Amino acid sequence: AAGDSFPAVVVGSGYGASVAALRLGEAGVTTLVLEMGRLWEEPAADGKVFCGMLNPDRRSMWFKDRTEAPLDTLLWLDVVNRPIDRYPGALDRVNFEEMSVYVGRGVGGGSLVNGGMAVTPARSHFEKVLPGVDADEMYRTYFPRARAMLGVNSVDPDWFGSTPYYRYARVARDQAHQAGLTTAYVPNVYDFGYMEREERGDVAASALASEVIYGNNHGKRSLDKTYLAAALGTGKVTLRTMSEVESVRPEPGGGYVLAVKEIDVNGSVVSRSEVSCRYLFLGAGSLGTTELLLRARESGALPGLGEELGTGWGPNGNIMTGRANHPWNPTGARQSAIPVLAIDDWNHPTHPVFAEIAPVPAGIETGISLYLAITDNPERGTFELDPASGKLRLNWRRGQNAPAVASAKSLFDRVNRANGTSYRYDLFGDDRAFAGDFCYHPLGGCPLGAATDAYGRLPGHPGLYAVDSSLIPGSIGVNPFVTITALAERNIARVLAEDVTTG
Ligand code: FAD
Repeated sequence: AAGDSFPAVVVGSGYGASVAALRLGEAGVTTLVLEMGRLWEEPAADGKVFCGMLNPDRRSMWFKDRTEAPLDTLLWLDVVNRPIDRYPGALDRVNFEEMSVYVGRGVGGGSLVNGGMAVTPARSHFEKVLPGVDADEMYRTYFPRARAMLGVNSVDPDWFGSTPYYRYARVARDQAHQAGLTTAYVPNVYDFGYMEREERGDVAASALASEVIYGNNHGKRSLDKTYLAAALGTGKVTLRTMSEVESVRPEPGGGYVLAVKEIDVNGSVVSRSEVSCRYLFLGAGSLGTTELLLRARESGALPGLGEELGTGWGPNGNIMTGRANHPWNPTGARQSAIPVLAIDDWNHPTHPVFAEIAPVPAGIETGISLYLAITDNPERGTFELDPASGKLRLNWRRGQNAPAVASAKSLFDRVNRANGTSYRYDLFGDDRAFAGDFCYHPLGGCPLGAATDAYGRLPGHPGLYAVDSSLIPGSIGVNPFVTITALAERNIARVLAEDVTTG
């Protein structure tokens, strides 16, 4: 098909991409956003845009025959996952050999499916992870800008203290305190005023109706409602959905040409076309951006890309674990799907852990305290392309999780000892108490200041930028999207000031 041409193209519509799209639009740069997933806007026959976690249907997952939820089993029974029809659902699980990575698919990327936890990292850790970035400027300007734009708010402690929907978090909090540990409220982009109205029955329930990893029908300020809405509001930004960028090559006179595959809801190819642009912003996520760049390097299309590309990948030290509570201390059948509390033991000298108290929104009493622990695992993986299939391969061995498991175990052994409780072995298959074979926080692949310059520019290829989680080298110590957003704000400000000419 004949190619379209735009001054700027943004690939993907997650955090980095949405920041780039808004700031380009505000600067008057006509910009096309290409997103491989759906626009989640039209309610289906049941009146809902997204399906819940208790009754997943084809809307749940990206072209799968069966859901692949993080909790595999309950009491060793295969009761969690369901067969579904193949469809461009909101959550994808990319299964590499020894690590599975959850990502969002659709307009808004990970913001559609994530827990909304909006955490700014400890400054000392940020400085350690990204020493080349001026932390003063980040903490003074870009973190506050990101939080304001994302709509970050906090739960009312009084309401938290009394609602049955956070009993699970209060139980886990008290047990942490019993072990001498500190807990902290975790800010979120879910509207807590809305959540309180859900409890009163004034509005349709979402967080209080077990909605989260397959999308929230209400309450969550996902990117389509914040950055992307503002970007489209500039009148300079347009969006093409179900459009996957397959490859990138340079245009002889400058700029880039993208090969784009458009699919329908059955996954059938509707069209293949080319789009050209002068400025290209890659926001396809840690996996997507790295894959596109590796493909362009390997094919010789973008020979300037160096050896650092594909390095510095990590799962943000993610480990999931569950504890069993005493029958006289129930966690509650009613649980808000949005986590609001964490055990903060990041200052531990040898085993730093930031552990979110996660819900088990099963609709029944399970007696489980579930946690997503973020640890400071120094292990890193690398990406390469499989020579036979051309697909992305992640070199990450399961054993590389050992430091993360050791840290999580150190913390939860203390909690168990102080409360006379034990682990749950029935949740993740294979009688394991710790799940480190999947992650929610893929980071790296195109590390800032190594695979790119200090602002995400790719070497040797003017006008080509990485803007997303691929820039963060494997760990940030807390949930990552506030950092991804703030870093994207910082980088795009510099790029607009120095590189981009309008008109
Ligand atoms: P993404 O948000 O991953 O967006 C990339 C987009 O690009 C996607 O929409 C994808 O469909 C699209 N894309 C990819 N390849 C192509 C291509 N070739 N062509 C066109 N489009 C493409 N983080 C937090 O901070 N707090 C949380 O509470 C939290 N909870 C999470 C819970 C879950 C279940 C998951 C999966 C993640 C969670 N995260 C959380 C992580 C967070 O969502 C991600 O770190 C974040 O979304 C990454 O942002 P990004 O800009 O790198 O790209």
